[in-house]
Amino acid sequence: MFRGRALLAPKPNPELCPGGRVPCAMDWTPTRARGHARLAEFLPAAGSTYAEQRNHDDGPATEGPSNVSMLSPWLHAGLLSEAEVLDTVLAQHSPRAAEKFVAEVFWRIYFKGYLEQRPSIWSGYCEGRDAALAAVERNAGTPMAYAEATEGRTGIAAFDVWVRELVETGYLHNHARMWFASIWIFTLRLDWQLGADFFLRHLIDGDAASNTLSWRWVAGLHTKGKHYLAREDNIARYTSGRERGPLAAAGLARKAEPLHEPADYPRNLPDLPRAITAADLKQPFALLLHDEAAHHAPLALPERPALVIAASRAHARSPGDVGAPAAGFTSGAIAAGMAEAAAEFGCPAVEWRAGEALEPLLAEAGIDRIALPYLPTGWTRDALSPGLGALTEQHRIITLLNDLNRATWPFAKAGFFGVAKQIDALLGECGIGGG
Ligand SMILES: Cc1cc2nc3c(=O)[nH]c(=O)nc-3n(C[C@H](O)[C@H](O)[C@H](O)COP(=O)(O)OP(=O)(O)OC[C@H]3O[C@@H](n4cnc5c(N)ncnc54)[C@H](O)[C@@H]3O)c2cc1C
Repeated sequence: MFRGRALLAPKPNPELCPGGRVPCAMDWTPTRARGHARLAEFLPAAGSTYAEQRNHDDGPATEGPSNVSMLSPWLHAGLLSEAEVLDTVLAQHSPRAAEKFVAEVFWRIYFKGYLEQRPSIWSGYCEGRDAALAAVERNAGTPMAYAEATEGRTGIAAFDVWVRELVETGYLHNHARMWFASIWIFTLRLDWQLGADFFLRHLIDGDAASNTLSWRWVAGLHTKGKHYLAREDNIARYTSGRERGPLAAAGLARKAEPLHEPADYPRNLPDLPRAITAADLKQPFALLLHDEAAHHAPLALPERPALVIAASRAHARSPGDVGAPAAGFTSGAIAAGMAEAAAEFGCPAVEWRAGEALEPLLAEAGIDRIALPYLPTGWTRDALSPGLGALTEQHRIITLLNDLNRATWPFAKAGFFGVAKQIDALLGECGIGGG
């Protein structure tokens, strides 16, 4: 008889928007139901409102539906899929009205596909980050400036506000992320890898691909020689809707050269797993939920698993401490996903904890195979792969990859334009938006 451990009950995280110093109107409950509710709240704004107003950073105190969706944490955790978000938006708005929103969702898929083809960007980032953190630790380089930046004591008012917002709420508007990264790199002259790490420790949507490649884009390393310089007047203009008025950002670098790096990253698209069918899942199998696939529903399994295994590895994001909102969202998403899958499939569920062997959990349940939602390049793969090695070699893993990623990633070879010009065809091919 299988003796699974007690299920983790999904519990709201009191650390998320705790009503502390930064007032936050957003409910970040890490469940699929809350993701759907947020999508419904935002839906009326996904057309022309989003196109016209998405660049405004109105701050975290905004009540009700805002100019951006704030769906990224649910998308990153796999509580919602890109396909269902696009489908819902395109059922309500014409492709023309929703063009900007649709393109932004494709940026997420593009970055994933780009990193998948160049995994050495991620490993290079990890090495660079570790070296930079070690230098801070040794008191070499710029430890004072790093401490001031991460504690929000730079004296650049806007930057210091965003630091508090990021640490306390786990979220920053896209424009704020761009200004923040630009100030970090070109005004404070700090290592971009330390900044990317700081984001990953705190963002509840922290994503290896979007984060690393966006920091590289701001620095001028993604589109080589093209960097992003934050400007005081632009910040004031797009933060004018904040509760306390526009944010000040005096003293920003007016001129700076894009960063350069000696490394070149070879491109190679791995063989992507084909779509699975019921025949692939004929034998009893376990479904493995992880930080980027915390819910069974978006996976559309053609057969029911006999066991649910949940692996939460939020602390693998960084060698440093991970913020409470980010860690809480991740572990809460997995706990909720695990409980809902067990209830849906009427099967046991068990946690696979870091450092534990996986095979005994399978052996105890008399199960041979695992259905594994694709592990994209990043810390979740780094943290889980060693424990999956033997099963992979024994061909006991069935990898699940959704149609939209499978169809889009091959176009993420160079710039976003390669994906952008395929969007209509990709939506049609994947049956999204009645296309
Ligand atoms: C320096 C920097 C770091 C970033 N780090 C992350 C990260 O760790 N995780 C993350 O999900 N996004 C990251 N982004 C991208 C973007 O800022 C967020 O996806 C977006 O702000 C999330 O808010 P939203 O859901 O309201 O977006 P919306 O504007 O409502 O967009 C809808 C969805 O499209 C996707 N999206 C939107 N803009 C982008 C973009 N520029 N790049 C990639 N996908 C996008 C997101 O999944 C988002 O939920 C980063 C951007 C920058 C400049």
